[in-house]
Amino acid sequence: MSVALRLLDDGAWVSVNDQRRVSVSELWRFPDPEFCDCELPDLVVEGFLDVGADGRTVETRVYGQCIACGTKSTTGWLPVGRIVDGEFRDIDRESVLRPTVAASSGPGADGDETDGTDAEKGKPGDSGDS
Ligand SMILES: [Zn+2]
Repeated sequence: MSVALRLLDDGAWVSVNDQRRVSVSELWRFPDPEFCDCELPDLVVEGFLDVGADGRTVETRVYGQCIACGTKSTTGWLPVGRIVDGEFRDIDRESVLRPTVAASSGPGADGDETDGTDAEKGKPGDSGDS
């Protein structure tokens, strides 16, 4: 079972099976000492560089800026979703992303079935306070 993974609009979107699934301007946190000096970078995603699949996990490499320290850089592969029965499912990108490259002992704990169907997210309009 194969899915079509591609980037659209110069890396502004990740498309899965011709549906736009993940967009820029999300805020991601992930442990990566090479990205910047922060213990946990607060990354605003500015563009997707690459998308691929590692087994059932959809991964991307992105560039963006850490809003904590201002560093602009690119990330390693970070998981953004999963393929389940040929369908894309979001993972909870509002919690800490765990880079998949660190998986040395194989996919042992696979019991974290999160129901990641939070519908209305990523609205760029909530400017909030002044
Ligand atoms: Zn930082």
